[in-house]
Amino acid sequence: MKLLIGLQAYDVLIKEKLALKEKGPAAVRKREEGLAEAEALLQEEMDKLETHDTLSRETEREIQDLDERLKKADVKLSGIASNKEYKAALKEIEGIKREKEALEISVIELMEKKDVLVSTCDDNQKKTDEMKKQFNQDRKQILNDMKKLDRDLKKLEKERVRCCKATDQSLLKKYDMLKGHKGGIAITPVIKGVCQTCRMAIPPQKFNELIRGDKLMNCPNCARIMYWGEDERYQENQGKS
Ligand SMILES: [Zn+2]
Repeated sequence: MKLLIGLQAYDVLIKEKLALKEKGPAAVRKREEGLAEAEALLQEEMDKLETHDTLSRETEREIQDLDERLKKADVKLSGIASNKEYKAALKEIEGIKREKEALEISVIELMEKKDVLVSTCDDNQKKTDEMKKQFNQDRKQILNDMKKLDRDLKKLEKERVRCCKATDQSLLKKYDMLKGHKGGIAITPVIKGVCQTCRMAIPPQKFNELIRGDKLMNCPNCARIMYWGEDERYQENQGKS
């Protein structure tokens, strides 16, 4: 029975560690996705900034073109003899100047907007860098944890095999069968007459038989192999996990 209790403890531990190990890759993936999202957002902001810079350059160029047109219009003006043409040329110059003024206002607005865009980009860059750093740390930690789990599992498997070899084979067969049917828990302590796994009270007479401990007994409710949990001989095995 002591061997079975040990075996059960190993099996529970192995199951726990396997479940933990399975979570590792998913945890790395989840962090990877978070980082990819932040990087995509940063790229979006940087694209916005680039589009904005292109627009600014185009506006500057348009202003230059207008300056050229103004120069030409001034030259043309000095060569005009008729009053009517002179008036028309002046009107054209006025139009160009108004257009230029409007563009100059939008250049100022573009510059102000650029400041905002640059600071957003900087913030996002900082955040992404921080996340990358955190991601690398976390991944390293998770991989280390998984390596440690592997080492623990190997050790546990070895001890489990040793435990199996020492256990009576027909008893082991029963244990394995129950383990398969009963969600991994094949044996159960009974304390103060109550099965600690299914929480059902067992008849007092059966409990007395169990305390005597001269035969293998199964819980009348959940069918798991029972042992007297208050028995001092079993105490050292409990809390081992
Ligand atoms: Zn039970």
